[in-house]
Amino acid sequence: MEIRYSDLRVRPVPEHRSRVCLIYTGGTMGSVPTDSSSPTSPNLRPASLVELLSSVPQLGQSEGIELGLVSFEQPVDSSAIGKSHWLAMACAIEEHYEDFDGFVILHGTDTMAYSAAALSFILNNLAKPVVLTGSQLPIQDRRGDAVMNLLAAVHIAGYKSTGLPLVPEVTLCFMDRLLRGNRATKVSASSWQGFDSPNYPWLGTIGESIHIRKKRIRQAPDNRQRPFYIERDLADDVRVILVHPGLSPAQLEQDLMSAGIGGAVLMTYGAGSCPSSPDFLGPIRAAIRGESPFTQPLPLVNITQCLEGTVEMRRYEASAGLLEAGVASGDDMTLEAALAKMYWALGRFKGRDIRSQLQRNRCGEKSQSLLDLSFSPGRAMEEENASPAIEPPAEAVPGRYSPERLKSASLRVLGLGLVPRVGAVDCGVRIFINRPGASEKTNPKSAYFAGEFSANQISQDGTLLATVSRSARAVVDAGPVAVSLVGVNADVWCRSIHLALYLEAE
Ligand code: ASP
Repeated sequence: MEIRYSDLRVRPVPEHRSRVCLIYTGGTMGSVPTDSSSPTSPNLRPASLVELLSSVPQLGQSEGIELGLVSFEQPVDSSAIGKSHWLAMACAIEEHYEDFDGFVILHGTDTMAYSAAALSFILNNLAKPVVLTGSQLPIQDRRGDAVMNLLAAVHIAGYKSTGLPLVPEVTLCFMDRLLRGNRATKVSASSWQGFDSPNYPWLGTIGESIHIRKKRIRQAPDNRQRPFYIERDLADDVRVILVHPGLSPAQLEQDLMSAGIGGAVLMTYGAGSCPSSPDFLGPIRAAIRGESPFTQPLPLVNITQCLEGTVEMRRYEASAGLLEAGVASGDDMTLEAALAKMYWALGRFKGRDIRSQLQRNRCGEKSQSLLDLSFSPGRAMEEENASPAIEPPAEAVPGRYSPERLKSASLRVLGLGLVPRVGAVDCGVRIFINRPGASEKTNPKSAYFAGEFSANQISQDGTLLATVSRSARAVVDAGPVAVSLVGVNADVWCRSIHLALYLEAE
């Protein structure tokens, strides 16, 4: 479905003025009573942008801001908004990108955070402000929040006239706060403070004056070297699956098998937990691998149902199962950001390495990037072929990262077993994170030594968890990484090794 928009007024203006393009999509701000003979009727329909602006005829003029006007041909309640509307907003921005200094999108509040998140992925190399705003009451209601929200958004987008700092990102402006668009969520259906961003500090405060916190703002790219463009290819269908008491494995499988879905966001409890029974994890594993009854791999990303905080899939047994099954960690992303990112990642990467794309921070939507490296000894290791040391083939770190960006690193060794040497009292294993073939792997004093672990630190099912931040820092800058296990008074064997590198979002 193509959503049509039209230019109501986008004339060129004198150079010295700030130029802001208003893009009107609908929502409460521009609504009027459905029955015009009953002005107090609570039943509202979206009116036109011209009707909306008749309540603020001088908008922008005293600040020297020239307004351009673009409107959806049929303004909608935002509950009707989907990917075609996101693309229409993006196309309007692309079409007028060179003509304006900033953009304000007038949007219904119900799905405003979804659109803000989606635009943050769709608009690439954005060097201008794109501010979404709306209101809890129509602009015609004198007691309402619409005029304040609209004026603040226009002031932020018209930074050249108002002297505010440039905010070259997709933001959401509501009442007393400016929020990063892909961190925002609607927190109240009626309060003036309808939005918040619990996992990221506000980009600015709006009161008697507007204060922008420059340190929290992303840097503008130079559009001469990195031109602005939009991502048009979004997935067709993405689902959200809410884990809840009583969700049966059969229902879960049915949800995952819904016809045509390309990926799903799994909303789990607390720090990322869900039932860990095999009948619950079975459909998840099969879906991710595209095993029967699934016909193709289905990427899944795990986020928390909590308003604040992050999933940590290593923390509880009830979440480690999802990790083993191959679910991507959404860390502290909002539902809105996770859903939008899935649409974007599936469209952009077409099944190639979606999991690692979902785990990396792309445009400030999560607080860290997670890089997962998996190492496998290549041959089936059993107790019988345990050896004094194991060094599976090295894996390349995707990209270059300065060691300071590494927040932490953790290692999971699965199917680990020790065969004590005859007469040995204590035995264990030493772990080294190293360059392939490096000679340091027997020296516990080297920077590559990650630690020595005794047999009783290995769980009954053969899992060893270790924090290996210091040694990972020595190798994260570039190139291939090797992990070696060296037995202490023992031979070792294992099934696989997984190294997770947590990097601060840039
Ligand atoms: N239902 C309206 C919408 O999202 C609510 C609002 O704008 O506040 O379009």
